[in-house]
Amino acid sequence: MRIKKEELEKLRNEYPVGLRVMLKKMDDVQAPPTGTKGFVRGVDDIGNIMMRWDNGSGLSVIYNEDKIEKVKCKKCGKDIIGYPAMSRFNEIDEVCSECGTRESLEVVGANESEINNVVNLIRKAKMDRDVLINKIIKLTDYKKEDLEKKTDSELFDIYLYLEDMGLVLNFDD
Ligand SMILES: [Zn+2]
Repeated sequence: MRIKKEELEKLRNEYPVGLRVMLKKMDDVQAPPTGTKGFVRGVDDIGNIMMRWDNGSGLSVIYNEDKIEKVKCKKCGKDIIGYPAMSRFNEIDEVCSECGTRESLEVVGANESEINNVVNLIRKAKMDRDVLINKIIKLTDYKKEDLEKKTDSELFDIYLYLEDMGLVLNFDD
């Protein structure tokens, strides 16, 4: 099936690398069970969403045929991108990494302003674009000019995804 360039771009914005999704429907004998969660690995040139399912399957979501749904953070309702934290108050629910950090700090008794300080520090650390871009180039086949076009949060999503894939980004070298 052909896909228009604009539509492909829209799809890539809607399903960024590292996005947490759940399978709703897939017509394939080897399909993971409905309800299986996974991470988006990217969108290929014909609009299929490349996946890493939690059960180990790597079957792509076929454009206009299969169906997936975004997993939302149970605390703030935003998309979960990168490795999700399990909510400490509900083992089954997944929360985004920022809500996960907040919960951990609440558990150890930090007050609101201490929590905000830590969250802001983490945000700032994420924003060192040049460092992050160089690290990503070393580990992937992303091109520098493409990475420079990405927003800070998109860059960090890639970072989280790489980390989740077991690729350790050492920021000291
Ligand atoms: Zn959240």
